Amino acid sequence: MLDAMNPEDVADLVATLRTVHASGRTRSMEWRRTQLDRLERLVREHEDDISAALANDLGRSAAEAWIADINPSIGEITYARKHLKAWMRPRRTRLPLNQIPGRGWIQYEPLGVVLVISPWNYPFYLALSPVVGAIAAGNCVVVKPSEVAPATSALLADLIPRYLDPEAVVVVEGDGETSQALLAQGFDHVLFTGGTEIGRKILAAAAPTLTPVTLELGGKSPVIVAADADLGVAARRIAWLKLMNSGQTCLAPDYLLVERSVRDQFVETLLSTLAEFRADSPDAGMPIVNERQFQRLAGYLEATKGTIAVGGNVSEADRTVQPTVILDPDPDEPAMCEEIFGPLLPVITVDDIDEAIRIVNARPKPLAVYAFSGSKAVRNRIVDEVPAGAVVVNHVAMHVLIPQLPLGGVGESGMGGYHGEWGFQTFSHRKSVLSKTAKPDPRFVYPPYTQRALKLMRRMF
Ligand code: NAD
Repeated sequence: MLDAMNPEDVADLVATLRTVHASGRTRSMEWRRTQLDRLERLVREHEDDISAALANDLGRSAAEAWIADINPSIGEITYARKHLKAWMRPRRTRLPLNQIPGRGWIQYEPLGVVLVISPWNYPFYLALSPVVGAIAAGNCVVVKPSEVAPATSALLADLIPRYLDPEAVVVVEGDGETSQALLAQGFDHVLFTGGTEIGRKILAAAAPTLTPVTLELGGKSPVIVAADADLGVAARRIAWLKLMNSGQTCLAPDYLLVERSVRDQFVETLLSTLAEFRADSPDAGMPIVNERQFQRLAGYLEATKGTIAVGGNVSEADRTVQPTVILDPDPDEPAMCEEIFGPLLPVITVDDIDEAIRIVNARPKPLAVYAFSGSKAVRNRIVDEVPAGAVVVNHVAMHVLIPQLPLGGVGESGMGGYHGEWGFQTFSHRKSVLSKTAKPDPRFVYPPYTQRALKLMRRMF
């Protein structure tokens, strides 16, 4: 058994994976296809185990386990398998006239041995979906799941070697120290999903070995609700995602910017939607993953200068927080400065769309911006004027389920991206290939250069 704290074990593990990769066995399309097939079987045959692990780690319902971890994992796998052949195909490129005769193409090459470090909030999907890209690209992979979701981490460590090539795809369980021990070995790529602060540490740890990094980070994803939005739809979609996994979702609506003329009507709709969605347990709090996260959220509520429109109670005994709508908090209070990552939802009243855009653009670039509006002009303004990892119009976070769209942040919300072909490319090297013929081989391009040769070269090149 590997002891992740023992540097020799970690070094041996990475060295073994390097040997396996160098043998070339992960490069073939057959290997990649087989691994993707087996990964799909792993998910389908263990839906109940995955669901149970998520309930254990996060108090997640079976419905949410299927919506947010199981089904999206299957979606990524089947899409990759279907398109693998096309992705792997070399892409011919046209050459400039002066390079003819010759042929040029781009060939996607596996990077080698890559590392995936994943978070606890969707601990199954966010560990597996980068692995899909890494395998599709023909790499050996080390997966380091989050120690904060121990049941899912143990399940991954049990299942992955039983289904996938155990000499090429390895799970290493552990915490931040384990990640650091792994990073110290140097990898051909690391894809990290987690918070911005740890993201900085990953980048620093990757620097000495020049390990290339994709950072899938978090931040405050705002929702702009324009006066001409369908308020019922906006309230339903916002409340739906805010309640999922107790708001512990990187793409959850973090705060709302609502135009003044519809603010009261919208808040009323939002409150009745929340009540409707929680009809089974109207006053219950929502489970929070651990004491640290619970104290952080309780602290935000204690410090708020806004008005609590609904909720506001927390229970330390069972570590729950009620879904809470906070009206017009202070822009400098913790709930408006830090990522919320819980069931609290600040609502800021704005005079108009200009003010909403100004507020969003004065903050670090978010992972996503959601724009609810019935007008094309308003939607276009938000799409064009707000820098963000993604913009979703009249919905929330749906882009995450579309493998044709890259998932990734910008600025403090991350660098690089993956999903679908973008994942394949992230874990591949785009190798430029130029193949020339031996003839013609004109003498004048070689030294010593005469005036006449120089003239000719200027004309040709
Ligand atoms: P985290 O940053 O605390 O931990 C993520 C991973 O990093 C875990 O595996 C952890 O063991 C490891 N880690 C912790 N300390 C480390 C260190 N010093 N060095 C190296 N590795 C270390 O994140 P989390 O709390 O698990 O997840 C929540 C955060 O992740 C939120 O900010 C959320 O927005 C973000 N997130 C982003 C996405 C996305 O797709 N962009 C998805 C989910 C979550």
